[in-house]
Amino acid sequence: MDINHYPQLNPPQRLLMGPGPINADPRVLRAMSSQLLGQYDPAMTHYMNEVMALYRVVFRTENRWTLLIDGTSRAGIESILLSSIRPGDKVLVPVFGRFGHLLCEIARRCRAEVHTIEVPWGEVFTPDQIEDAIKKVRPRLLLTVQGDTSTTMLQPLEQLGAICKQYGVLFYTDATASLAGNALETDAWGLDAVSAGMQKCLGGPSGTSPITLSAEMEAVIRKRKCVEQGIRTEAHQDGEEEMIYSNYFDLGMIMDYWGPERLNHHTEATSALFGARECARLILQEGLDNGIARHKLHGEALLKGIQGMGLETFGDLKHKMNNVLGVMIPSGVNGDQVRKLMLEDFGIEIGTSFGPLHGKVWRIGTMGYNARKDCVMQTLSALETVLTYVGYRTPQGAAAQAAWDHYGSHA
Ligand SMILES: *Cc1c(COP(=O)(O)O)cnc(C)c1O
Repeated sequence: MDINHYPQLNPPQRLLMGPGPINADPRVLRAMSSQLLGQYDPAMTHYMNEVMALYRVVFRTENRWTLLIDGTSRAGIESILLSSIRPGDKVLVPVFGRFGHLLCEIARRCRAEVHTIEVPWGEVFTPDQIEDAIKKVRPRLLLTVQGDTSTTMLQPLEQLGAICKQYGVLFYTDATASLAGNALETDAWGLDAVSAGMQKCLGGPSGTSPITLSAEMEAVIRKRKCVEQGIRTEAHQDGEEEMIYSNYFDLGMIMDYWGPERLNHHTEATSALFGARECARLILQEGLDNGIARHKLHGEALLKGIQGMGLETFGDLKHKMNNVLGVMIPSGVNGDQVRKLMLEDFGIEIGTSFGPLHGKVWRIGTMGYNARKDCVMQTLSALETVLTYVGYRTPQGAAAQAAWDHYGSHA
């Protein structure tokens, strides 16, 4: 092998304006290049405790068990579903996009009895629709997605916790795409479990999944048996219910690892933890509410610009996430050709769509480090230029002007 054919990494400069991942904040990248520590070094366990404290604020919770699962966002989802669902448990999943289907798929692998309700893509559920389904199905868990990037819709969750409490249902949400860019109140909304990921509004690279668990959820998990009798110590609580069919995602063991027992489980992904810690520090230095307002400001400026160039948007704008916009591809325009020109000639990535929206909708994200005016203005200007090039006439300069007007009114 001629090693010179494998040069040192030098990835092309890209502005990532799709539905995630996004460019990581440089402060996060610097934190991640810090030297490693042994996993029981007091400095390391101190950082782990700090991460728990920081993410309690990000999740707006007092939950003791607020920690990181090593892996991408679905590692967080799988850890919660595998650890809480017993084979045969009924779960209810309101599906309004691709990530609802993902929850169903994972729940089926946990051998849950999965019940779904659906609305057309581009819409969300009313609390009544969900309450009616809960009354009918009587599930043990309600599995929701807060922001589904596949449709750009944000499911209102405020009223669901009280409904779940009334019917004795555990309430989970996947907030991967929404956390820190849209309001989420774990405690005030009565959520029993929430999971997230770094590569959306949290402003980092994917690789860790912050989760938080209520005391009720902890109790449910502690009832599960632990398989590895050989390594059991007093500190491992041993329940009576069927074991969790994963070692890596066994939240009972993971709590014992992050808790004062520090029982060996996996080797914490140190660099990823340093990155997640810096993401939370950035968010809390800005102020969680200020950060959400920033996502709203730039998301709306993008919307105004897109409308200003005469393009249609996808879905019910009343329920749009702050951080992603679905843009209808005009008829006669080849959506993939436009994305290719945006990437190759402007270094800007925008998203395509899945399933029923494929070839019909682009998805443009303004999140995390890229929820900024310069990112919005560059993306709008490049898109206008590319559309003109492929023969779709837009009023010249209208997109940038509309965005400027919006910023002006928020100056
Ligand atoms: C982007 C996204 C994910 C991503 O999961 P990964 O495992 O990090 O790829 C999960 N859930 C939702 C709702 C998302 O928008």
